Order: sequence, then C-alpha cells, then structure tokens
Amino acid sequence: MRKPILAGNWKMNKTRDEAIHFALSVEPKLPKEGVEAVICAPAIILRDLVKRCEVIHVGAQNMNENVSGAYTGEISPVMLKDTKVEYVILGHSERRAYYNETDEKINQKIVRAFEYDLKPIVCVGEVLAEREANKTNDVLKTQVTNAFKGVEIANPDNIVIAYEPVWAIGTGKSATSAQAEEACKYIRDLLAGIYGEDVAQKIRILYGGSVNTKNIAELMSMPNIDGGLVGGASLKEDDYITLCNACAK
Ligand code: PEP
Repeated sequence: MRKPILAGNWKMNKTRDEAIHFALSVEPKLPKEGVEAVICAPAIILRDLVKRCEVIHVGAQNMNENVSGAYTGEISPVMLKDTKVEYVILGHSERRAYYNETDEKINQKIVRAFEYDLKPIVCVGEVLAEREANKTNDVLKTQVTNAFKGVEIANPDNIVIAYEPVWAIGTGKSATSAQAEEACKYIRDLLAGIYGEDVAQKIRILYGGSVNTKNIAELMSMPNIDGGLVGGASLKEDDYITLCNACAK
C-alpha cells in the first residue's frame, strides 16, 4: 500500500520564528502513522526546522542541478543534503513560469537529487488554455517523459509526483476529484510504460491546486491520488492538522 503524503508548500512565507512556532504547535496533534506530513519551507529556515521537527518531514522548494560553483543565489544538492532535508520540490509551475525552468533542467535536477539521497516531489500540470484545448494528456506525457528521461528509480518510495493543474494553483478553483483522478491515473500509466506496472503502483502521486479542508476527503477517496501538495491551506496550523488527518489511511 502506498503511504499517503500531505506536503505543505509554504512558498515565500513564514519567518524562522513563525515556522518553529507552527512546527511545535502542530506536531503533537499530527497522526503518528498512516500519513507522511511534509513541510517544504524557504531554504533559509530549513536547518532550524529539521532540528525541531520530529514528526514532520522537511523538504526544500527548489534546488540547483549543479553541485557547486558560480551560481549566485542558488542552493545546491550538497547543501540540502548537509542540512538533512529529506524532500525537494522540483519543477513547480511557479519555477517553470517565473524562472524559465525547462523539462530538461528538471530532469537534471531529479538525477542530481537521487545522487544526494534527496526525494524529489516532481510537479507536472497543464495551463488552462491547454486543458480547454483538450491537451492535458499531451502536456503530461511530454512533462513526465522528459523529466524521467534516463532516470533510474532504485526505490519507488523515494520519488513523488504532484499533478498540479496550473489553473487550480492559488485560485481557489480546485480540479474536481474526477479530473484529478483521471490525470493521476494517466500519470501512473505513463510511469508504468517507463518503469513497469510494479514500480508505477508503488510511486506516490499527489494532487495539488486549491486543496482545502473541505475538498481533501473526496480527493483522497480516489484510487490514484495518494495525498496532496498544498500551498495556501498549509500555512494555517489548524488546516494543516485537518489535512494530515484526512490523508491518513
Ligand atoms: C502549490 O503551491 O503547489 C499549490 C497547490 O498551492 P495552493 O494549494 O495554494 O493552490
């Protein structure tokens, strides 16, 4: 059985003190089993969170594909490894849109993350015009195929995919559970084509895009949705606890 994940993506929110307050107050109220509670926080507070968190798994929101060098402002996989974070979001649509991240770069980042024992949460998803033009599957196929080109998966527990339709992120307009399930199933079929059915059945696929405490249960009732990647609602302590409880199986 795939263990569900509820991953909060805090984006560019929370100071160190706010983050520690959040972690200390939610941890005693999180389910002890049945779900992996993850927080992907700003890089500057990762070390403090790793030190304080006992239940929450800590992740970064991005990573450079190079190990070191003249890349001003960037964070390397070595640094994340040294900080003892477990997860790293790769290819979030905001990184694709605002920082020109290509499928090719994301592919390099996945390879590098594995080299340093980091678990990638790889984001894929279509923009509204692509959905309206019935191109969702084409987009997902291109993104998944390119992201995983030449990537070996030694342990399917160590890779997570997040289906995040761009039109649903931060808009309050979630995909329906049927739309999310259809896309997650399609992604699983693509993975089966690359890695075989056995591996594909073990990979966790999350849905992300305006997940909240009201829609999480229905999303989680879908057979191919193994949790959520949550932005806005993960910033509130009570909502984060409710979302983790709703994902626990
Ligand atoms: C996200 O940041 O990946 C996200 C899905 O945000 P939100 O939940 O706010 O739509």
